[in-house]
Amino acid sequence: MTDAATLADRVQSGDLRLYELEAHADAETAATARRLILERETDAELETVGSYSFDAGQAADANIENGIGGAQLPMGVAGPVRINGGAADGEFYLPMATTEGALVASVNRGLSTIDAAGGATARVTDSGMTRAPVFRVEDVAEAEHVIDWVNANLEALKAAAESTTSHGELLDIDPSVVGDNVYLRFVYDTKDAMGMNMATIATREAATVVEAETPAELVALSGNLCSDKKPAAVNAIKGRGRTVTADVCIDRELVEERLNTTPEAMAEGNTRKNLVGSAKAVSLGFNAHAANTVAAMFLATGQDAAQVVEGSNAITTMDVREDGLYASISFASLEVGTVGGGTKLPTQQEALNVLGLAGSGDPPGKNADALAEVIAVGALAGELSLVAAFCSRHLASAHEELGR
Ligand code: NAP
Repeated sequence: MTDAATLADRVQSGDLRLYELEAHADAETAATARRLILERETDAELETVGSYSFDAGQAADANIENGIGGAQLPMGVAGPVRINGGAADGEFYLPMATTEGALVASVNRGLSTIDAAGGATARVTDSGMTRAPVFRVEDVAEAEHVIDWVNANLEALKAAAESTTSHGELLDIDPSVVGDNVYLRFVYDTKDAMGMNMATIATREAATVVEAETPAELVALSGNLCSDKKPAAVNAIKGRGRTVTADVCIDRELVEERLNTTPEAMAEGNTRKNLVGSAKAVSLGFNAHAANTVAAMFLATGQDAAQVVEGSNAITTMDVREDGLYASISFASLEVGTVGGGTKLPTQQEALNVLGLAGSGDPPGKNADALAEVIAVGALAGELSLVAAFCSRHLASAHEELGR
C-alpha cells in the first residue's frame, strides 16, 4: 500500500491517473491523495471535505468515483405528524436536509396544523418504475410486426426480465412508434428499491430477446421515453415511481388560528396561483413549492437527488368545505426507495430510521410506499404554509389599506 503523499506525487508526475488510485491504496488513502493534489494545484483547503463519517471503501464501490471526501448539509426535523396512510401509519418526524432557511419552519407550521386537525390521509394509488429502450426498424409495417410480437410474447419477456432480479416484477410493456423508431416502455414493480438500476438491468435482458426474435435493432437501452431526470409530460400522465396523494380537512377555527387566514382566502389563493398561474406558465407542476420538501427529504434519506425533477410533478388543490378547508397534493411520479443507492450511507440510514423505514418493508415495497406517503404529507404541509403566507400577507395589506 502506498501513502497519500507518494500517490499524489505519482499523479502529478504523470505516472498515475486520478481514477487509478484505488488500485494502489485503500479508498480513504486515495481520497486523501486526491485532496492533496487539489490543494497543491488550486487555492482550496479541503479540511472539512476530508472530515466525513461514511466508509470511503463502500462509497467508492457503490456511490462515487474519484472520491475526495464528503459534502455536508444542515439537517433539521419537522413534525411530529399523524399519518393515516395505506403504508405509513402512525406519528412521524420528518428529517429534512437543506440550506434554505425557513423551509423546515414552514413545513413544521403546516405539519402542526395538519396534526391538530387529526392528521393527514395518504395513499399510493399507482406504482411502477420505467425503462424505455428505443429500437430501429425498417418502416412502420415492421414496427407493427415488432409490437405484435411483443404483445404476443409478454410472458417470455417477463421471464427474461425477472431472471435478473429476485425482487423486481415486470408489470407492463407500453409500446410507441415514431417513424422507424419503436419505443417499449417497460414498467416494473421494484418493491422497496427506487429501481432504476434494477429496471435497467432487467430491460437489457428482455431487449436481448426482442432483438433475437424480431428484426428490431436496439439503439439505446434508454430511449428517453422512460423518462428519467428530465421534465416530461409522460411521467405526469402515466406516472413513474410512486403516484401518491395526501389530503387533510382542517376546521375553519384551526385555519384562522394556525395559518392566520380563512378557508376562502386559501382556496382562492391556491386557484389563482397554483392552478391558473401554473396553467398560464404551462407548468408541469401545479403547486407552490412541492420540490422544496421533496429535495430536502431526498437529500436526508439518500434518494437520487436528480429525480427531484419528477418529484415536482404535483397538483395541489384547496376547497372550502362546510366545516373548513379541504387540501390535497397529488404526486404523479415520486421516485423513492428504502434500499439501494444512497440509502445505505450512514446519515441517510439514520434519517430513514427516524421514520422507521430503513431497509425492506414487510411485505417488500411497504417501506418505499410509506416513504412516498410521508414525503407527500410533508409537501402538503409546505403547500398549506406557503399559500397561507401569501394569503395572510394579502389580508394584512388589505387591513393596512382599510385602516388608512
Ligand atoms: P440498487 O442499489 O442498484 O439495487 C437495489 C437492490 O436491492 C435490488 O436490485 C434488489 O436486488 C435488492 N433488494 C433487497 N431488498 C429489496 C427490497 N425489499 N425491495 C427491492 N429490492 C431489494 O438500487 P436501484 O433502486 O435499482 O437503483 C438505484 C440506483 O440507481 C441509485 O444509486 C441511482 O442513483 C441509480 N440510477 C441508475 C440509473 C441507471 O440507468 N442505471 C439511472 C438513474 C439512477 P435483486 O434485484 O437482486 O432482487
